Amino acid sequence: MVGVTNVFADWQKEEFSTMGTNIVVEVFHHDAQVRDQAILKVKAEMERVNQSMSTYIDSSELSQLNQTAYGQKVKVSQELFELLELCHKISELTNGAFDITYASVGYLYNFPEKLAPNNQQIQQKLSAINYQFVELDPIHNTVKFLNKDVKVDLGGIAKGHAVDNSIEILSALGIKHALVTAGGDTRLLGDRLGKPWIVGIRDPRNKDKQAVVVPLTDSALSTSGDYERYFEKDGTRYHHIISPTTGKSSYGVQSVSILGEQSVYTDALSTAIFVLGLEKGLGLINSLDNFEAIVMDDNRKLHFSTGLQQN
Ligand code: AMP
Ligand code: MG
Repeated sequence: MVGVTNVFADWQKEEFSTMGTNIVVEVFHHDAQVRDQAILKVKAEMERVNQSMSTYIDSSELSQLNQTAYGQKVKVSQELFELLELCHKISELTNGAFDITYASVGYLYNFPEKLAPNNQQIQQKLSAINYQFVELDPIHNTVKFLNKDVKVDLGGIAKGHAVDNSIEILSALGIKHALVTAGGDTRLLGDRLGKPWIVGIRDPRNKDKQAVVVPLTDSALSTSGDYERYFEKDGTRYHHIISPTTGKSSYGVQSVSILGEQSVYTDALSTAIFVLGLEKGLGLINSLDNFEAIVMDDNRKLHFSTGLQQN
């Protein structure tokens, strides 16, 4: 038929691994070269953020900071400085539930090896968990740790940051419809040609099942769950979201999803609301403009923020 093109051929999807997680990129563009370039650029960006912000890579800027910042000001890149400033802001907003110094104790957990610190080991380092020990000097872009046991980790926000950067890269290439997912963090550019994107939130206890599906356009959705990195030992589930108050895994909910405009915020807030728990967490989201939440509690009951409730 004259004038009809096969729009399905203009979609391109690729999956790969970096930042310790699975990445999905899906783009729409009529020019295959632009699509190829888009996917290559997103891959490179994810890898760049990983090389700079992973605590598993000794040479990363973040690892270097952890090794040198106690007692002295260390100059960091503008990008890392701004992200640390945002972390500070989110720590204040969430009353310390989001705290990158969780890692002062968090580094003692090794989920693949099924290792968790004992109470005594936790107590030795617990007082180092306090975001106020990370002193930021915005004039010189320097960072100084005020306690010798402080370690920071950006695992709760770096994926969201990389997703936002990727969406910016795709926009700059003239792409108007795209999806970028890094683990539990997804951001959508535009819609799926007249229809919303359908993003699933998985069942925390069954990876092949979805608990909820959400239709979305031009927005971000992040999910934090107690199933991403965990092991069970003696009837306890040890997982990767750590309460800054106890230094132990946070209990009370199984998963928290946050909807918003930018992944960097939804990523950090999903981790924070997980720690705050159902009541305080939903209370905070209900008090903020532009964010919504879906929480599954420990009895597997779903709860929605007021903006998502349909009476
Ligand atoms: P997410 O995957 O976004 O849910 O974030 C979980 C990751 O955030 C963990 O793997 C840790 O790297 C980091 N994290 C754990 N607990 C906290 C916390 N209380 N505040 C900030 N980051 C955390
Ligand atoms: Mg998160």
